[in-house]
Amino acid sequence: MTADTALDPQTIATAARLIADRQRLLVLTGAGISAESGIPTFRQAQTGLWARYAPEDLATPEAFAAHPERVWSWYQWRRTLIARGGINAGHRAIAGFEPRFEVTVATQNVDGLHAAAGSTRVAELHGSIWRERCSRCDTTLEVPVAEPADETPGYCAVCGAMSRPDVVWFGERLPAQAVETADAALARAEAVIVVGTSNRVYPAAALVDAAVASSAPVIEINPEATPVSGTVDCRLAATASTALPAIANALDGASAGRYDQ
Ligand code: NAD
Repeated sequence: MTADTALDPQTIATAARLIADRQRLLVLTGAGISAESGIPTFRQAQTGLWARYAPEDLATPEAFAAHPERVWSWYQWRRTLIARGGINAGHRAIAGFEPRFEVTVATQNVDGLHAAAGSTRVAELHGSIWRERCSRCDTTLEVPVAEPADETPGYCAVCGAMSRPDVVWFGERLPAQAVETADAALARAEAVIVVGTSNRVYPAAALVDAAVASSAPVIEINPEATPVSGTVDCRLAATASTALPAIANALDGASAGRYDQ
């Protein structure tokens, strides 16, 4: 299936029909939904200055311990990309599902773009790049969503030690409250949309596995196939910014009864 064929009206209508008459939606998102904001996913090649580093060599406690300035510099670069890129039509379409549905977004992204688009219930499974946490005393600090003035590290206002981005690095635990919110939303969800995630980064990918195993219908939006593509109820091999607005537009005529006539 190609991205073009997936956007045929029939497939969009099927996706819309799967959610139209439900109330509680869970939307699971990964780096792909922000790719069209110009923020590379971890599987896309790093660009420019950072091409020689794998994200796995920058987003770890070990990397921060060995090269804190390098890690900070990378995060400041990513903050710049996010601040410049801003939200896209995919983030907007998800926010637009409220108030028609009770929507919970559980995201692996650290960019804050779902909240920026207006989504009101967002579980940030991997933390936020717009928050810093002291590496010594754990004091946290929200930072303005803006291009950083320079690449230098943040320092704790309380104890003076170097802060780190309050994100989940490879090998670290997910924040308990975000996991609880996502689990509770999955338990109540009447439909699940999985968008822009490779479904390979655990433990977040376990939520997708659990969604597929649940009775709720699952729609997947991703130009590339993932480990769950063969088992979801509706697969859209398309980008987030084309598929999500198309589903939103199709919703009005898509209650299950009308579609089946
Ligand atoms: P991933 O990089 O493993 O996979 C991204 C997925 O998005 C791929 O399957 C790809 O096919 C898909 N994709 C690419 N462009 C798309 C588009 N336009 N529309 C829909 N799908 C698209 O990302 P992941 O599974 O989210 O996990 C990797 C880790 O990277 C996560 O831990 C996440 O925290 C982190 N990350 C976050 C950001 C961000 O905050 N924006 C960016 C990069 C990586």
